[in-house]
Amino acid sequence: MPDVCLFCPNRADSKEDIFSTWMTTEFTEFEGGFMPVTRTASALEKTWKNWTLAFSTIRAVCKSCNSGRMSQLETPAKLLLAEMVRGGEVRLTEVDQLTLGTWATVKAYVFDSGSAMPSAVSRDECLILK
Ligand SMILES: [Zn+2]
Repeated sequence: MPDVCLFCPNRADSKEDIFSTWMTTEFTEFEGGFMPVTRTASALEKTWKNWTLAFSTIRAVCKSCNSGRMSQLETPAKLLLAEMVRGGEVRLTEVDQLTLGTWATVKAYVFDSGSAMPSAVSRDECLILK
């Protein structure tokens, strides 16, 4: 895990949920909320328990980014995604599409930072999202 925030030069002093906590209440069609995920790192294969993965956090960002930009992305993304998960009809504006794309990218970068494998994302790519 990085010592420096993924999205700025600050120290990574805040824990970010790998999966947003609101998902645990929206994705309830599966027993336990989430399907188990099997992940391969080096020669080891790990099966993550449903709730362990659902509430896992990574110390990869600073408090400022977590409570600022990331939180500002989370709120509108949650409204759109939760409605889609419930089967509602959602018409995505260009702004909505950019919000969801940016939110998904941020989540992927955070997840990538916690991987035991070499990062697929460069520092410059992360800093673009600041
Ligand atoms: Zn930051």
